[in-house]
Order: sequence, then structure tokens, then C-alpha cells
Amino acid sequence: MRDRKHHEFSAESNQATMASSSSSRSDGIVLDLGLCEGAEEYGSESGWVEARSSCDHLSSLSPDLSHIPAPQNTPCYECQHPSENWLCLSCKEVLCSRFVNKHMLSHSQRTNHCVALSFSDLSVWCFSCDAYLDAQLIPQLRPVYQLAYILKFGHPPPIPQHT
Ligand SMILES: [Zn+2]
Ligand SMILES: [Zn+2]
Ligand SMILES: [Zn+2]
Repeated sequence: MRDRKHHEFSAESNQATMASSSSSRSDGIVLDLGLCEGAEEYGSESGWVEARSSCDHLSSLSPDLSHIPAPQNTPCYECQHPSENWLCLSCKEVLCSRFVNKHMLSHSQRTNHCVALSFSDLSVWCFSCDAYLDAQLIPQLRPVYQLAYILKFGHPPPIPQHT
């Protein structure tokens, strides 16, 4: 369970970023390559956020992610909480966050549905990876991310271009 491939990916792009930016900009962003060794600890405990560019659990995604509930106004299926909800990308149930009644978390534990999209900030979380996934970089996730973005903001997301 020590798959480090995604780190090589981000390490490469980080290197490029760091090489081209002066050291004065680096203190706000923790991209020190030495941290890759301890990424697990950072991911599980502190505010370390590293979105993965790959995930081995995408086979459970719903085959039809071109129709999803609206990010606004869709309450938690279990407790009707109106906000902070997540969309299960396997069965498209809308469930509240771990900061509300943890219904997405318990749903994931009960069903093994592990990939969910946040209606708050449109981030994608994999409960099996225990990590955020970069929906813009993962082809299976990009369409539903873009759809949710359009439903939430009324226009498509900006395309990240850093090269
Ligand atoms: Zn709930
Ligand atoms: Zn589900
Ligand atoms: Zn995963």
C-alpha cells in the first residue's frame, strides 16, 4: 500500500514551479520535495492538502454522471441538512459532511462507495485513498466536476494551464 506514483507526478511539476519562481514566494506553499516521504502523516493529520492525480477506485463510479442533483438546494438524503453536502459519485446520493452528521462518511463505510464530490467547494475526496483527487486531471472525474461547476456557478470552470 505504498503507491508513490502520484508523488512522482507532482514532484516533477513542483520542481518546475520552484525552479522558475524565486525563493521569496515559496514560504506560503509547502512544496518541499523532502515532504514526500512523510506525505501520509501530513495527509491524515494536518491541513496538508495534496490532490492526487490518480485513484484506483474509479471503477465504482456511476455510469451516468451526466445527470446529477443540483449543488444548491439538495439536502442530505438522511437528515435533510441543507448545505455542506457531498454527492456520492457511485450512486448519486447526496449526503452531509463529516462536520454535520457524517452521513457521507457512514454511507461510504456501509457501501464501499468511496469517491464523493463536495457541493461546497467541488473538491473530490476518495475515502479509500484518504485523499483529495484532482478532478481536472483525472479523465473519469473531469466531466462531472465540470457539470457540477456549471450547475453551481453558471459557467464552466477555468482550464488550468501552467505550462
Ligand atoms: Zn445528513
Ligand atoms: Zn453511494
Ligand atoms: Zn481512491
